[in-house]
Parts: sequence; structure tokens; C-alpha cells
Amino acid sequence: MSTIVLNSSVNIPLPDWLKKCIVHSSASNGNADNDRKFSDANLICRAFEFAHQLHQGQYRKSGEPYICHPVAVAGLLHDLGGSPAMIAAGFLHDVVEDTDITIEQIGELFGAEVRQLVEGVTKLSKINFKSKTESQAENFRRMFLAMAQDIRVIVVKLADRLHNMRTLQVMPDEKRRRIAQETRDIFAPLANRLGIWHFKWELEDLSFKYLEPEAFRQIQQHVSEKRTSREEKLAKATAILRDRLQQAGIKCLDISGRPKHLYSIYQKMQRQQKEFHEIYDLAALRIIVETNEECYRALAVVHDAFRPIPGRFKDYIGLPKPNRYQSLHTGVIGLTGRPLEVQIRTMEMHHIAEYGIAAHWKYKETGNSNNSHLSATDEKFTWLRQLLEWQSDLKDAQEYLDSVKDNLFEDDVYVFTPKGDVIPLSPGSTSIDFAYHIHTEVGNHCAGAKVNGRMVPLSTRLQNGDIVEIMTQKNSHPSLDWLNFARTSAAKYRIKQWYKRSRREENVARGRELLEKELGKTGFDSLLKSDAMQSVAEKCNYHSVEDLLAGLGYGEITLNLVLNRWREVVKAQQPLAVVQPFLPKESAAANKALRDAPATSRASDSPIVGVEGLVYHLAGCCTPIPGEPIIGVVTRGKGISIHRQGCHNLECVEYERLVPVCWNPAAEHSSRPYTYPVNIQIEALDRVGVLKDILSRLSDQGINVRYAQVKTAIGQPALMDLGIDIRDRPQLEQVFVQIKKMSDILNIRRVGQINE
Ligand code: MN
Repeated sequence: MSTIVLNSSVNIPLPDWLKKCIVHSSASNGNADNDRKFSDANLICRAFEFAHQLHQGQYRKSGEPYICHPVAVAGLLHDLGGSPAMIAAGFLHDVVEDTDITIEQIGELFGAEVRQLVEGVTKLSKINFKSKTESQAENFRRMFLAMAQDIRVIVVKLADRLHNMRTLQVMPDEKRRRIAQETRDIFAPLANRLGIWHFKWELEDLSFKYLEPEAFRQIQQHVSEKRTSREEKLAKATAILRDRLQQAGIKCLDISGRPKHLYSIYQKMQRQQKEFHEIYDLAALRIIVETNEECYRALAVVHDAFRPIPGRFKDYIGLPKPNRYQSLHTGVIGLTGRPLEVQIRTMEMHHIAEYGIAAHWKYKETGNSNNSHLSATDEKFTWLRQLLEWQSDLKDAQEYLDSVKDNLFEDDVYVFTPKGDVIPLSPGSTSIDFAYHIHTEVGNHCAGAKVNGRMVPLSTRLQNGDIVEIMTQKNSHPSLDWLNFARTSAAKYRIKQWYKRSRREENVARGRELLEKELGKTGFDSLLKSDAMQSVAEKCNYHSVEDLLAGLGYGEITLNLVLNRWREVVKAQQPLAVVQPFLPKESAAANKALRDAPATSRASDSPIVGVEGLVYHLAGCCTPIPGEPIIGVVTRGKGISIHRQGCHNLECVEYERLVPVCWNPAAEHSSRPYTYPVNIQIEALDRVGVLKDILSRLSDQGINVRYAQVKTAIGQPALMDLGIDIRDRPQLEQVFVQIKKMSDILNIRRVGQINE
């Protein structure tokens, strides 16, 4: 299998580098066996032979045997200094697409690395570009990078495209234009991004030729007309500099007029609205020397020979550009009195400028990848790092960041609309994200999705290259579920936004219901209208309480968060924030008085300080009355419960739920008869009329008795439970004193879970 038998039917002239390879591979062939690692030359030759046999009988549009194309592509990769695997991939890049060979067979015959490259190139070939706008083109380029994963795949693809562009002439006009446009939009910028100017220039010039044939022809003509006079002008300067450099003992490897490519002249004319001669008359020279030190010495020679133009000198050797470009630039007054641009660099700098990332191979691996200690994976990541470092034509920091982000592969997912536009989405995005990306209305009326022509659940994650079609229906609308699988914040935001708008009443009602369950029905309406609730709404970033309820209803904010904010507000309660307080039912008159009173006096009339504007009640377990230390407890469902300090029920209450409150001394002295229910238990000798006596004593003191219950048992003291309304602690103490005075009373105590 490793033996190369070149078919006698090879009927195309082989390039020298390939002939050399064949010689090397034959030389080592004598002791070759299947177990031996294939040598580089062997790999390259086998790939060539394989491709040659497979493409046998196929011809290009030009009539040439098809194999000419892979040979040319491999040659471009060889010239770039590509590894044997890349060159092999150059030979094999079309076999999976154009012959019966499978990618698995490529892997078996040529190894995983070659397989991976060929697979990558084949995959990219299937992408159909229909770029219309610059942003679309940019998306294509990003998708290209994301799909290629390995930059070497892109370089192979660029070589493929370059050769196709060189041979585009034979194609029908329409196809020519389409391919040229695609090259200008996608491939030339990719070459530029990789710093392979060499490819970029040629791709641009060839696109130019087919897209603007008239302008191309004119500029080409101008350039060739001007060539003679320009060369004459430059020849003198060149001769002078060559002489001076030699005198200074500097070995000059090359000194020549700097080539300008046609498309860049055209762009410059367009941009600056200038005529050809205004652009082209600027003469430019490039000097290539051996060492960095010689660059500076050469600069001194140039500045000595011609008068330098101030402000034109730039040292990109000491301070390389971000893309690693290095050179000395200067401007001098030439022999004709016109400016002459001079670039000075070493051969290595020149290669980096021409080949970008690809120059890396030449200098870091010195063409001997047998001894290369870089594994394929290392190399891939070295490339990635290089790409990040070698950013070209960066305009500003943001662009730099963007481009770094662009080049982090797998960062985004790129999918197609049915019309062929590329949409970039976050990884993990679903049809919902896609729908909202297209348009809010498409998202809001999304009724289903097709991916690559098949119906899929809306939650299906999209893959690179998927073609996504959204079905819409007039009466469809977003579902709250969608929030679970929408990936992009834009989609989530719009789904919530839709709920906000179209379901406002429902949401308000739902929010209301949730909150009422927590805070209790009693007084809930006035609670909603209170300043306290308004400040809760504001603390939650809503304008109004209704907005807050709506937000709560569609799940934009959690109930817990609202309750926490509410507790905060309650704790920090300002005495001025008052709505009508809860009044005992017999105080209807007071109630009216309160309504009629001015707002400021109402504040100080509230019986309890610390719960103004809130629903509260006095706890039944300990029945606090004015004069006793009290504390508020935020309850689930019943507002604030006012307990006596020391009530047993407080023992298991979380600290956060406690609200500091106290009796309002101003209310105590008000004329309004606030009273509070207190339960007492009296133990007395069972005697007829004892209850009547007790009731009449209470009545004498103007105390209302709400209920009385007597339990008697033979031979036991009678137990009387009384519910009385008491104004405050002193009054209660007075009651106790009065009752204890009665002869048949054994004991009197207050009922309540409290340590007295
Ligand atoms: Mn090809």
C-alpha cells in the first residue's frame, strides 16, 4: 500500500517540488513496509497518486484533466510551508465530494489528521453563500470559522478558492460573478484575517476583475502605461541606495519597487475620490536585508542619501503591530522632488507580512515536521492562539475584542433562514430564540418549527448550519413554558413583555390573589392603596402597586421578594404613612371622627405606633392592652399580629418576622374609647348569685362583658371564664383589685400564654 507506482498515464506536467517528493519517497521505498511510519514524502506522494487515480477521466471546464486542480491547490499549500498532512489534504480535498471514496476510507489510508482536514473542507464546501449585506457576509465568515474549527481547514479552503479564481475565466458569466462576489465577501476577508496577504491580494484582484471588469481593465492599463516611467524614476533611486548600502557593508537581499495590487488602488481612488495618477504617482521602495540590526543601519543610509520627511518614520520593529507585522517605514524626498516611501525589513518579516499565520510554519517548524514535537492538536491550538494574537487591521479596542470573540470557535451557533440568511445565536439556542431573532411578531405568533425540513419540538437545540423555518399562526401566542427553553435574553424578555401587555388584567388578578393569601383578606384593599404598599412597589422597581401585582402575576418577581420588601417597609415604617386604622366595632363614632380629622392628627391618634397603614390585629393568645410592652409579628395571611412581649407563641417566631411596635401614648389620652378584649378566669366558691355580683361590679366600672361562662362541678370551686373589654393595663388592675375584694373569690387570673 505504501508503494508508489506512478501511473504511466500521468499526462500533466508535475511541479518540481512534487517531482522531488516522488524521488525522496522512491528512495526510501526499498525498505518500506506496512508497519513503518510513512515519511512525509511518502504521504504526499500517496495522496497525489490516490487523487490522480480517482479523478481519472474527470475534466475541468477548461478541458484540463481534473487532477490539475488538486495539484495546484497542494502546490499553493506547499509554497505556504504547509505540513505534509495539509499538502495531502490539498490533493484529496475534492475526492469525497466528487468520487465514491468515503471519508472513513481517507482516514484508513492517510490517518486521522488528513481525514480531519479533508472532512472539514468537504463540510465547508456544502455551505451555500448568498451574502447580501456586509453584516450577512460577516455572519458567514464567522460561521465558516465556527464550522472549520481548525484554521488549517480554512487555509486549505482558501488555496482551493484561489486556484478556482485563477481558472474562473472559463465559467459562464453569471456563475463567475457569483463566485467572485463570494470571494470578495467571504474568502478575501478570511485570508486577511489570517494575515495571508499573499492570498488576500490575489483573491481581491481576481474578484475585482470579474465584478468590475471595466474599472479593472482601466487600472491595469494605467499601471502598465505608467510602469516604464515609474520604473525609470525608481531605478535611479534604487541604484543610488544599492551603492550606498554596499559601501556601508550591508548585504541587501532585495531592493525593488513595492508592488501595489490593483484592487487596493481602486479602493483608494474610490475612498479618496481621486484620479489614478494622484494615487499611483507615489513611489515606493522596499529594501530587504538580513538582520534586524541591518534594518536600522539601512535606515541611516536611506536618511543620509535622501532628505527624510518629518513625521513619516515609524518603527514597527521595535513596536510590532498587533498582527506581528514588523518593518521600518520612512518617507523621503526622492530625486524628482516627490515623496518616496521606503520600507525596510528582514526576509522573515517579509514572509510574516506576506503569509501571516502561514509564515509560522516556515520559521517555527523549519519545514521538517518529522522532527516536529508539535502534535496535531498542539498545532491546532497554537494556530488559535496565533489567530488571537495576530489580529489584523484593527480599528479600535472594541473591534479587537469583537474579533477575539469572533475567533473563539464554538462561541456561537450559526443557522440559516429558509432564504439563506445566516443568523448567529448563543449556543444552546432553540427555535424560539430564532423566531424572536427574526422578529418579535414571528416569536409571538410562533406555532411550530421545522429544522432542515422536519417538524421539531420548539425546545430542540439548534446546530451549526441548520435551516430553520418558523410556522406562525394569527391566534398563536407565547406560552410561559417557552421561558424554560429560550436561551437568549432577548427572547425571554420579549416573552415576558408579551405577557405583561396582553395579559395584564389576568396578571394583576393573579398577583393580587397571591399577595392576599399571604397578607390576609381583612383590610387588604386599603392595604393595597397604602403608601406602604406603594413604597414596596417602588422598592421592587415598579411604578405602581398595580404594576407590582402584574409582575407578581406573570412571575417577573417572586412572592418571597415582595414579602421581604414589605417586611423591610414595615420595619422602617414612618408614623406619617397612615390609612384608616382598625377600630373595634363599637367605635363607629370614633371611626367617623377619625375620618373627619385632619391627616396629621390622625397619625398621632393611631393606637399602635409601628403598624400605620398596615393590617394588624391583637393576638388572641395574649390579648395585649395599652400599658403592656408589645411586639408585632408578620404573619402569613393575617397581616401583623400584636402580641405581648413574653407571649409563649413568640418563642418559635423567626427574628426577621418581628416588628417593633408600641402603644401610642397620644391615643391613650384621646377622648376616643378604644377598648381591647381581655379574657379572665375567676375561681369562686360555688354560690348562687356570685356571677351576678361579679357582673354588676364590672358594670359599675363601665366595663363591657362580651361573654361569660360558668363551669361547676360538685364539691369543686366554680370556674368562670369572662371576656371583657378593657381600656388599658391600669383599668385591668383596678378590675382585679375590685373582684378580689369579694368574699367568695378564691383566685382571679388573666388567660393568656404568657409568663406574668
Ligand atoms: Mn477544489
